[in-house]
Amino acid sequence: MRQVLPFAAPGGEAVNTSTTYVRRSATPHKVDNERYYRTGGLGNILTKNGCVYACSHCVEPDAKGTQFTRREVAAVVDEIESLTDQGIYDVHTTDSEFNLAVAHTKAVLTEIVRRKSADPATSLHGLRLWVYVQPTPFDEELATLLAEAGCGGINLAPDHVHDDVLDGWKVTGGGRRYYTFEDTQRVCSFARERGIPTMVEVLLGMPGETADTMRECVKRTLDLGATVTGYSLGIRAFPYSPLGIQLAQDCDGIRTVRGLQSNTAREPIVLRPKGQCSTVEYERQFMFDRHGRYRPVYFLSPELPEDRETLDSPSGRWAKSIELLHDLVPEEDLYRVMLPTLPGLTQDDNNYADNPFLLRLIESGYTGAFWSHWPRRAEIMRDVA
Ligand code: SF4
Repeated sequence: MRQVLPFAAPGGEAVNTSTTYVRRSATPHKVDNERYYRTGGLGNILTKNGCVYACSHCVEPDAKGTQFTRREVAAVVDEIESLTDQGIYDVHTTDSEFNLAVAHTKAVLTEIVRRKSADPATSLHGLRLWVYVQPTPFDEELATLLAEAGCGGINLAPDHVHDDVLDGWKVTGGGRRYYTFEDTQRVCSFARERGIPTMVEVLLGMPGETADTMRECVKRTLDLGATVTGYSLGIRAFPYSPLGIQLAQDCDGIRTVRGLQSNTAREPIVLRPKGQCSTVEYERQFMFDRHGRYRPVYFLSPELPEDRETLDSPSGRWAKSIELLHDLVPEEDLYRVMLPTLPGLTQDDNNYADNPFLLRLIESGYTGAFWSHWPRRAEIMRDVA
């Protein structure tokens, strides 16, 4: 292992060759997982790294690799068992998606189930495994294995229901759509039949979103009957997400594109495609404007029902779309829905930073995925007041 210094020694190369590097990744309990659990409510497990799909909003393939790197099944389950031995019973997968490379997923779950049936004393009997999944691949066998392994909840990300919006967005590396809304319905049914709670994630405001597609999406996703449904509006554009690359190409360094927005933008956002600038300049423009001022870049569909003035402003707030979204959720469903907010619109805060409900949950000793407690938030906040 070579440590690169931030500056070059006079006449030498910028590499630290004097201090030794001790690799400690095999040292047991190097991480204080118990403290992490106590102050965060979850432990974590990685079963594989990377994602072979190419969803246009997503940074995972760029951040983690475009191929799957699978961990050895016994090593994964050893690590989960080591966590449950320490009393860390809520364990969330940190795979990009737990059910991709599904044969490996099933092998991990099968090994958990095997150890549980072979050993009545194993701490794995207390495991609550929380997972992120896509609507496919997901069959009855996977659902049953999840239930038998001790799944605490399934976080499902269909993102939308409308094919015109999903085409070209939720796609494989080859550009092919890989699920339909019927697949989403099937996962929710499988989970319901086995008593596994579900969180359905929806991302509104991608290219092609209109008031009509939003209306249809909210209606059909609420009809899924998930434990919780979470809606977000707009997406951060990153330098190497397919959407970010496309937006930079569309701007071509000379014009802005409708829907490019940042709360802190003071001038139209004009991105340069790779090739027109250095790599550093290319990446920086998604975070800072040309004067170096902080200005993270977002995209919100300009086809949503906003005023001309909002659409023309680089810092326009898609407030009418948020109000429409709130109006689309019937009163009786509000308890199980997470919505983006505007100041004064609702007492719920959907921002994870210093979220009052999340902080109270942790202080009160709740564990497991945040969303699983969301439907009882009024009662929980009353109890801790
Ligand atoms: S959103 Fe798509 S690209 Fe991103 S991790 Fe999930 S399946 Fe992979």
